[in-house]
Amino acid sequence: MSAPEPEEKKGKDFLRTIIDQDIAAGKNDGRVETRFPPEPNGYLHIGHAKSICLNFGLAHDYNGVCHLRFDDTNPEKEETEYINAIQEDVRWLGFDWKKHLYYASDYYAHFERCARELISAGKAYVCDLSPDQVRQYRGTPTEPGKNSPNRDRTVDENMALFDKMKHGDFPEGTCILRAKIDMAHPNITMRDPALYRIKFADHPRTGSTWCIYPMYDFAHPISDAIERITHSVCTLEFEDHRPLYDWVLAHITIDCRPRQIEFARLNITFMVMSKRKLLRLVQEKHVTGWDDPRLPTICGLRRAGYTPEAIRNFCDRIGVDKTNSTVDIALLEYFIREDLNKRARRVMAVLRPLKLVIDNYPDGQTEEFAAENNPEDPSAGTRSVAFSKTVYIEQDDFREVPPKGYFRLSPGTEVRLKHAYYVTCTQVVKDAAGEIIEVHCTYDPASRGGGTTDNRKIKGTLHWVSAAHAIDAEVRLYDRLMLTANPDDAPAGQDFLANLNPRSREVLPACKIEPSVAGARPGDRYQFLRNGYFSVDPDTKESKIVFNRTVTLKDAWAKIEKNAAKK
Ligand code: ATP
Ligand code: MG
Repeated sequence: MSAPEPEEKKGKDFLRTIIDQDIAAGKNDGRVETRFPPEPNGYLHIGHAKSICLNFGLAHDYNGVCHLRFDDTNPEKEETEYINAIQEDVRWLGFDWKKHLYYASDYYAHFERCARELISAGKAYVCDLSPDQVRQYRGTPTEPGKNSPNRDRTVDENMALFDKMKHGDFPEGTCILRAKIDMAHPNITMRDPALYRIKFADHPRTGSTWCIYPMYDFAHPISDAIERITHSVCTLEFEDHRPLYDWVLAHITIDCRPRQIEFARLNITFMVMSKRKLLRLVQEKHVTGWDDPRLPTICGLRRAGYTPEAIRNFCDRIGVDKTNSTVDIALLEYFIREDLNKRARRVMAVLRPLKLVIDNYPDGQTEEFAAENNPEDPSAGTRSVAFSKTVYIEQDDFREVPPKGYFRLSPGTEVRLKHAYYVTCTQVVKDAAGEIIEVHCTYDPASRGGGTTDNRKIKGTLHWVSAAHAIDAEVRLYDRLMLTANPDDAPAGQDFLANLNPRSREVLPACKIEPSVAGARPGDRYQFLRNGYFSVDPDTKESKIVFNRTVTLKDAWAKIEKNAAKK
């Protein structure tokens, strides 16, 4: 396995450079305080993990703190289920917000005071234009907008109308509170943006107390300032909003000036990374739930068998920068393989069993062979694997008519059964339909433990499980959920769902596994020899262990690096 080039070991990224400068300039008394501000309207995904690693990482590196703040200003789409799941996922990734758990909804009264302060200063007004009209009046990047007919309302008038908005006297959509900035501003975001809208929706935390809700661009800078955040890190699409962020803080009374800094969001090939699309995949049942192992959600990756370390190492490696790009999914897979290679115990599991009977092996005899648990980690020790007259091998490891270059079992050939003996195929048994149901072999007692005295060359080594000792398992194999590297690359008139891979999940209900995995618990991870890395699924029952394949053994990233080196 070739390791990905360590990003030219690393000059500081641009964020740390900015923070160093701020500290050198004596800003914030040298304090660094960051926040991760999810909107609780879906589950976290690997893109969020980048933001989490970044914000908590900065706090860690500068001896600061990182807050977890729920940006819950959009009552309709938000649910307590998401609030709980988000906390679980951040913790699982290995981060601790200590006592700094906050909710934007706890600041509603503060936001209202700020709104009134702007109204009093003639910096905000209630506007009755319909949403369509607001759009029309806004202008375009090349043309200035037009002033709203309500722009010159008096302070008293605005205050009275805002009171009425707050008291539920107006239906939804009839008016908004807007900042009074400049309808000809070259940055459209600054053309009298909305600050408050009316919504008669129950909020998961404030219930029906409020029917006006602040807009993100108003609530976010104030929340940051209330919490005394020093560096408010967000993704690039908010770059145009930064002047508004600064405008809000400049026009309210608050003695803290957080600095907004933008970085590029993470995209990964073959992965859908927008909450809206993930929600559709879940709601329309294209996947089994938010934690479907095919999803890039944190809980999906966890269920698939990913480790927090692998995700953190991946986030470290991709770093932060200022331009959007897409990361190859093979790089993410590289990091989980690298981690599991070190920690996953090797076992033998047969996914599609074919019975192999050793005719010259004594009936009823069992032998135990020592097998190493992890060649990468001698301290993992060995275990004992039981062998007997009838074993299972993979259907794929037998061909009645072997293709050229096939080194596994076929009539007349000899292969090594890993850790055990050499066997030679003598006979094939078929059912009435002509399907192979059993193969017969003879074994060479002199090859005990997997070698011989004559050192004859054996090319094929097969994994196997003794039929009498095997435990039953269900194994779920996954392929990419999307067929195209860019899931949005859909034929005209269709959306990303057109690119769903119809064969992304395969359930193998009757697998045979060596007994050493008995008692395995959800979350336990193994390498099944030759088959990949697997993790025990929460669907596991006393009677049947269920495994998910986390990733295959094949390292596509090594190939990418090799090809790149050739060029
Ligand atoms: P989506 O576009 O998937 O709905 P969002 O940005 O609306 O995501 P939030 O809950 O607001 O989701 O995100 C919380 C934080 O995570 C924000 O600071 C946001 O910038 C960051 N974030 C979201 N997606 C990514 C991503 N793909 N890469 C890096 N950071 C991200
Ligand atoms: Mg957002």
